[in-house]
Amino acid sequence: MMAAMASLRRVGVLIPKAGTIVLGLLLILLVVGLGFVAIWQDGRALAAQQRLRRASSIVQTADSILLGLENIQTGQRGYLITGQLNYLEPYHRGSVSIDQRIQRLGRLLPATPSNTRLITNMRTLAAEKIAEIDQTIRVRTNRGFTAAANIVRTNVGEQLMNLLRAELSGIRNQYNRTAIYEHVLARRRTRMTKIIVSGFGVVLLVTLAGMYWRFVHDFRRNTEITDRLTHNANNDPLTDLPNRAMFMNWLTYGLAQAERINGKSAVLFLDLDGFKPVNDRLGHSAGDRVLCEVAQRFKHSSRTGDMIARIGGDEFAVFIPTVSNESDPAELAHRLIEAMRQPIVADGSVVYVGVSIGAAMYPRNGKTPESLIAAADQAMYRAKREGGRKLAFHNSALTDQITRETRLRGSLQKAMQAREFVFHYQPMLDAQSLKPVAVEALLRWRHPDLGLLVPAEFLPIAERTGFMRKLGPVLMQNAGEQMAAWRRQGIRLRLAFNLSPFQCSDQNLISVVESVLISSGLEPQNLDLEITESGLLQNDAQEILRNIRQMGVGLTLDDFGGGKSGLACLRRLMINRVKIDRQFIGGLPKSQQDIDLLAGLTDLTHRLGIQVTAGGVETRDQDVVVRRLGCDLVQGNLYASPGSADDCINLLHRWKAA
Ligand code: C2E
Ligand code: CA
Repeated sequence: MMAAMASLRRVGVLIPKAGTIVLGLLLILLVVGLGFVAIWQDGRALAAQQRLRRASSIVQTADSILLGLENIQTGQRGYLITGQLNYLEPYHRGSVSIDQRIQRLGRLLPATPSNTRLITNMRTLAAEKIAEIDQTIRVRTNRGFTAAANIVRTNVGEQLMNLLRAELSGIRNQYNRTAIYEHVLARRRTRMTKIIVSGFGVVLLVTLAGMYWRFVHDFRRNTEITDRLTHNANNDPLTDLPNRAMFMNWLTYGLAQAERINGKSAVLFLDLDGFKPVNDRLGHSAGDRVLCEVAQRFKHSSRTGDMIARIGGDEFAVFIPTVSNESDPAELAHRLIEAMRQPIVADGSVVYVGVSIGAAMYPRNGKTPESLIAAADQAMYRAKREGGRKLAFHNSALTDQITRETRLRGSLQKAMQAREFVFHYQPMLDAQSLKPVAVEALLRWRHPDLGLLVPAEFLPIAERTGFMRKLGPVLMQNAGEQMAAWRRQGIRLRLAFNLSPFQCSDQNLISVVESVLISSGLEPQNLDLEITESGLLQNDAQEILRNIRQMGVGLTLDDFGGGKSGLACLRRLMINRVKIDRQFIGGLPKSQQDIDLLAGLTDLTHRLGIQVTAGGVETRDQDVVVRRLGCDLVQGNLYASPGSADDCINLLHRWKAA
C-alpha cells in the first residue's frame, strides 16, 4: 500500500502523507459522530418540548374547567340574588362545554386506569354540580329567592365544587411541576444541541480548511519539488549555471532557429588556465569557491541572450545564438578573458586563474551541436598550446584534423586485429666503439588508406580513449618476439621499449613484462623501458617501476632535461639510464650554453652511476661533442634512422659483417 502510494507520488500524483490521512479520517469521524450526537440531542430536546406543551395544555385545560365552573357558580349566585337573567349567560355557555373540556383533559392525560377513573369521577362531579345549579335556578325561577337560597345553604353544591377544585388542582399542580421540569429540560437540551451543532460546525470547518490547506500545501510542495528536480537536472549544483545537458538543448534549438533564418551563431569553449594547481594545492573546497567566482564573473561579463553553461570540471561554454561575424564572439571572449585578470581570493589565498577560449562558427565550422562543440574544443586546445589566456578561432585545418582523428579513433580496434601496428627500429650505438648495443622500438601504424602514420598522429588518440591499455601489452609482446627472431639470426641486442605515461601506473605492467621476458627469452638486462617524466608522476608509478627495476629490467628516463625531473627521483627509482632531450643535442655545437648543460648533466648522472644516451644526433659535429662529453650511448639519424624490422636487421647484418 505504502509502496503503491510512494510510486504514485513519484509520478506526480498528489497523495497526502500517512499521518495526514489518519488525521483527516479522525476529523471526518469526529464530524460524523458530532452530527449524530447533534441529531440525537435535538430529538431529545424536541421530545422534552412536546412533553412541555402537553403539560401546559393539561394545566390550561384544568384551569379552564375550574374557571368555567367558577363562572357558572358566580352567575348562579348573581341570578339567585338579583333574578336577572343575564347572570345566567356563563351557565348557558359553559354547562355543556364543561363536560367536553373534561373529556379533552382525559385525552391529554396519559391513558392509565387511574386517569380514566379520575376523569370519570370528574365528569360525574361536574354533572352533579351542573345539576345542582340547574335545580337552584329552576327553584329561583319558580319559587323565588328564599327557596333557592335554602338549597344553596345545604352546601351540597359547594362540596361538589370543592371536590372538583381539589381534583383539578391536583392535576394542575402535578402538570405544572412537570411543565416546569420539562421547560428546564427542553431549554437545557436545546442549549446542548446548539453547543453540539456549533462544535460540529467548527470541527467540520476545521476539517475542510485542513483538507484544503493540506491539498494546497501538498500541491505547492509537489510543484516546488518538481521545479527543483527540473532545475537540478538542468543546472550545475555548484555554480547554478546550466549544465551540459541543458546547453545541448539550447544549442540544438538555437541552431535549428539559425538554420531556418539562414543566420550565423557561435560557440565558445572555455577552459580555465591554472585551475588544477589551485585544486591540488588549496583543496577542493577552495577549488569550488574559485569555480563559483569564475561562474559569476562569466555571467556578469556576458550579454543578455548569450547562453553560458558549465559543461565539465573547469570547462564552460557559451552559445551566442545570433552573430554577424567573428567580431561578435571575439568581443565577448575578450571580455571573459579580461574578467579573469583580477585575482580571486579563495579560503584566504589569492589565486590567479585565467581562461583559454576556443571559438567555432555556425555553419562554417560545424552544423550540429556536437561538431560545433568539438570544433570550439579543438580551437581552445590551440589557444592553450599558444600559451593560454587567449582566444583562438577554429579553422579548416582543425576541421580536417578532427575528421581525421575521429576516423582514426573509430578504426583502432580493427587495426590491432589486422596487425596494422608495426615497429620501426632504430639502433643505439656504444659511444666509444660505435657498435650497436640496442634497438629502440618505435611504433608505426600501417594504415590501409592513410599510409604509414607516426606516433604523434595516433598515439594521443589511443591514449585518450584508453585503447593503449589494450594495445600496450600486445605491442611489448610483438617487440619481444621480434628480438627473439633476431637472436635466432645471431643478432643479440637490448630492446628499448617506450611506455605511455599511464602504463607506468598499470598494476598489470609487472606481469606483462614477466610474460614478455619468458616468451621471448630476453634476459631482463636486455630489456629497457623508456619512461617519461609524466609517467613518473602517475599514482603508484614509482612502486611499480621499482619492482620492475628489481627484476633487473633497465629503466631509461626519456627526454631527460626537458622537463623538471628532480635528480632525487633518479636514485629513488634506481633509473639506470637517461636519454638526453633532443632539444639539447639540436643546439650543438653552436650553443655553448647547451654544451655546458650537456656536460653538467652527463657529469652529474655519471656520478649517480647512471648511463647517458644522446638521442637525435644528426650531424658529425654533434657526434663529436656528445662523445667528447662522455655520453655512453648515441642514437640518431646520423648513425641510422628508424626503419622497418627487415631494413633494420639488414643494416645490423651489414654492420656486423663490416
Ligand atoms: P621518443 O621516445 O623521444 O623517440 C624518439 C623520436 O625521435 C622518434 O620519433 C624517432 O623517430 C625520432 N628520431 C630519432 N632519431 C632522430 C634524429 O636524429 N632526428 C630527429 N629529428 N628525430 C629522430 P617517433 O618514431 O615519431 O616517435 C615519437 C614518440 O612516440 C617517441 O619519442 C615516443 O615517445 C613515442 N613512441 C614511439 N613508439 C612508441 C611505443 O611503442 N609506445 C609508446 N608508448 N610510445 C611510443
Ligand atoms: Ca624513446
